Amino acid sequence: MPQQKPDIADQDKKDRVLSAKQLFSSTKLPSLGKAMSIGYYPRGCLSGGVALPVTGPTWQVMRVSRNRMYGHPELVNFLERFAPLAAKATGWHGILVGDMAQPRGGPLPFGHLSHQIGLDVDVWFMPMPDHVLSKEEREKTSASNLVADDWKHINPKTWTPQHIAFIRTAAEQPEVERVLVNAAIKKQLCQAEGDKHSSWLAKVRPWYGHNDHIHVRLKCPADSPSCRKQPPVPGGDGCSDKELAYWFSDKVLHPKPRPPGPPSKGLMLSDLPPACKGVLDAPAKTVNAGVSDLR
Ligand SMILES: [Zn+2]
Repeated sequence: MPQQKPDIADQDKKDRVLSAKQLFSSTKLPSLGKAMSIGYYPRGCLSGGVALPVTGPTWQVMRVSRNRMYGHPELVNFLERFAPLAAKATGWHGILVGDMAQPRGGPLPFGHLSHQIGLDVDVWFMPMPDHVLSKEEREKTSASNLVADDWKHINPKTWTPQHIAFIRTAAEQPEVERVLVNAAIKKQLCQAEGDKHSSWLAKVRPWYGHNDHIHVRLKCPADSPSCRKQPPVPGGDGCSDKELAYWFSDKVLHPKPRPPGPPSKGLMLSDLPPACKGVLDAPAKTVNAGVSDLR
C-alpha cells in the first residue's frame, strides 16, 4: 500500500489559497484575548479589538455595513475623548467617523493600504447633523470635499475656519502620531498658521487623497510590543516650499495610468506577522456596537 500523504487541515489549506484580505474581511467578530496591535500599520492585524459604539453623544459612525468600526481600545478611547473636544473647538454637534479597522484588523479588500492594526481612523470633514442618522443615510451621505478641482488649492466654497480647529484638535492630542490631509489643505494650514511655529502643525502631513477626511494615526500602545513604530515626522513644520513642491508636481497631480494586467492578490497570511494566524483562528468575542438599533 502506498504511503499516504498526511492530511492537511482544511483551515491550513484555506490560509494558503485565500489572500489575507479575504480571510480578514470574512471574519465578522473580534478575537477573544488581550488587545494588541500586531505588526505595521499597512501590514499586520489586531487582537482583542473593541468596537466604537456607532452612535455616541458627539459622534456617529458612517458606512456601518463595512463593519470597520473596530480598533485597539486606545483608538476607541481616543475617539470618545476627541469627539467632544472637536465639537467644542468647531461648534459642530459632533464628528462623523469613517473607516477604522476590521474586527481582527488585517488587509482590507478596498479603500486603504493601512488601517490594519487598529490604530488608524478616518474622520470626515463634515459636522455631525443634529439627528441620529438612519442606516441608509450613513451609507449614502458623502463627506464634503475641501479641495478645488485643480488639486492645488482648497475649495473656498467648502473650506471653513472650523476645519483648522478640527485638524488642530486632532493633531494636538498626545497619543496622535500623525494626521494625514491632502497637500492643498496642508498648504492652507501653513498659510494660516505657519508663522506661529505651532508644534501640532508638524504632525499634519500631506498624503494622496484625504480631500474629504482626515486620517488620524495613533502611536504604538505600550501594551503592544510587536507593534512597529513609524519613523518620527521629519523636523520642522513641513511648510517649506521644498517639502510641499513634491505634492504639487506632475508626478503626483497627473500620475501615469498603471500598465494593464491582472490585479494583484495582495498580501497573503504568510506575509503578515506569524501571530496574525493565531488572531484569525482565535475564538470570537461578542460585541454590541448598537448596529441593530439603527433604523
Ligand atoms: Zn485612512
